[in-house]
Formats: sequence, C-alpha cells, structure tokens
Amino acid sequence: LKLLLISRELNVIRVRFHGRGGHGVKTASRIVGAAAFSAGWQAQDSPIYGAERRGAAVTAFTRMSQEPIRERGVIEQPDLIIVGDETLLADPGAGVLVGQEGASGVFVNTSSAGQLAEEFSIVPPVVTLDVAQMTLDCVGRASALSVGLAAAAARLGGAIEEEQLLAAAEEELASLGVTVDVIEKNLLLARRVYAALAPIVLRSREPAVTDEIWIVGEIEPPGGAPSVLAAGNAVHRRTGLWRLQRPDIDYDLCTRCGLCFVLCPDGAIAMDEEYPVIDYDHCKGCMICAHQCPVRGILRHREVRSW
Ligand code: SF4
Ligand code: SF4
Repeated sequence: LKLLLISRELNVIRVRFHGRGGHGVKTASRIVGAAAFSAGWQAQDSPIYGAERRGAAVTAFTRMSQEPIRERGVIEQPDLIIVGDETLLADPGAGVLVGQEGASGVFVNTSSAGQLAEEFSIVPPVVTLDVAQMTLDCVGRASALSVGLAAAAARLGGAIEEEQLLAAAEEELASLGVTVDVIEKNLLLARRVYAALAPIVLRSREPAVTDEIWIVGEIEPPGGAPSVLAAGNAVHRRTGLWRLQRPDIDYDLCTRCGLCFVLCPDGAIAMDEEYPVIDYDHCKGCMICAHQCPVRGILRHREVRSW
C-alpha cells in the first residue's frame, strides 16, 4: 500500500534504459512495461536507435502510471536510469545522465562498483550490481542483459511484484522465439537480480500533463542517435568502449606478417617498427584479427572494464 501511495503521488514513473546494441535494452523496457500493465498500471514502452549496429548506444523508455499516459517521445526527466554498460557513462554522446538531477536513482551494471558517483558526477543515489556476471552464470552469455536489466528496473521501481516480472519476461521472450530452456535460465536470472536489490524511494515530481498529448523531444536525442558533427569526427568517438572482448597480441608468437593490420575492418591496428599495435580507443573487439592470425598469436580476453 505504501508503494502504491508513493506511486500515486508520483503520478507517472519514468524509467530510461541505456545499453548497447545486442544487450536487449528494448526488450528490457518492454518486459517492464508488460509487467507494469499486469500490475494494474497503464504502461508505455519504446526504444530509440541511432546506428543499427551491435555495440552502438541504444536507449529505451518505459512509462507507467495510474492515469492515462499522454506523454510521448524520449524521457528527458527520468525517475530511474538503468545503465546496462558502465562505459556509456564515459561517452557524453550517449546522454546517460541527461536529466539526472531529478532522478531518484541510477542503476549501473558493473563488476567494479568503485567510485562511479564521484568519477562521473552522478547526483542521485547509485545502485550497482554485476548483472553481466549473473547473466553469464545463469544464461551462459554475459551480453544477454534484457531480463536482468528488466528485473533491476522492476525491483528498484517498487511497483512490480516478482511474479508479474516473471510472467512478462516469459511472455516476451517466448514471443521472440526464445527456446523454453533459455527462457527458464532467464527466469532464474530474473529471480536472482530481483532478490539482490531492494526498492528505492522514488521522489515526488510534478504531475504529468493529463489534458493533452505531450510530445517530448526537444533535447538532443540521447544515446540512440548521437550527432555526427563534422567530417573526420570518428577519431574523437571512443568506439573502443563498445568492445566486449579484447584482443591481445602475444609478441612472442607474432611473426610480423601484417595480416591483422590489413584485415582489421576499423583500421585499429598499426604496424609500429614492423610489429602490430592495437589502438584500443577504436578497436571494437570484433576479433577478426584473432581469427585471421595464422599463428594464433592474438589472444581473446574478456574486456573487464565493460564487463
Ligand atoms: S596476424 Fe598475427 S602474426 Fe601476423 S602480424 Fe598480426 S599478430 Fe602478428
Ligand atoms: S578486434 Fe582486431 S580486427 Fe576487430 S577492431 Fe579490434 S583490432 Fe580490429
């Protein structure tokens, strides 16, 4: 009852998800929307994409309200920010912290809780959990974050019961053609994430507009559609932050054949005094170099900063 009263006072709860292509951020927003609907809320969910590419920044939104939701478009003033990949915090173009001042909490999937608030000047309380590791343990793929992020949002928002979350996750994954076995693994993940977190106290906001449709979208589209400002700007975008796996050259094995230098699709390998050197600011971790190296001289490691 207390949660319901808080929620009614809030009028509408706005959740903004940030992740990368392949994380399942859109699915996460959809699961939360469906779960909220089954919990008796009116709900709305939508994604925004920029580059339709695995690893590119993606943003998704869920609104839930006890009243008709007349807002549309991006959420500028979120109550809850869910960050699927901490490296997005280091990319100003991703807009993760847009409107953070009025938010009640920022959730970050990270293996290193560290000093995120200080490092990135995060104003609201920061909640962290290594959802990627939990996903790896339960599902077998650290990047399949949709259910884990949905569970975090559902739990922190305090408006969705565990059973409603599980039912929504099961229905959404089934609609995507996910096998029963993988769905079961995801439901285990959902239970674990839900149990690991506690609801945060949502701050009261100005009531939502109720008498007309309100299209929100005056700000720069966050994350999903980063602006291309000028020719040659790519060097300034640290696309290496997309990387999930890190190639490391074993110089004892390397024969200096130069194949990796030639075949890297992003020009992220230079030949320095005949040895290849990887530019980690722009290597996206496709691992083509590792596959093509004839002496298997490029090792594959998990990118610990991202995961
Ligand atoms: S492909 Fe392998 S052996 Fe050839 S330069 Fe690159 S790391 Fe060295
Ligand atoms: S993983 Fe290798 S081929 Fe792929 S972007 Fe990085 S250096 Fe280039």
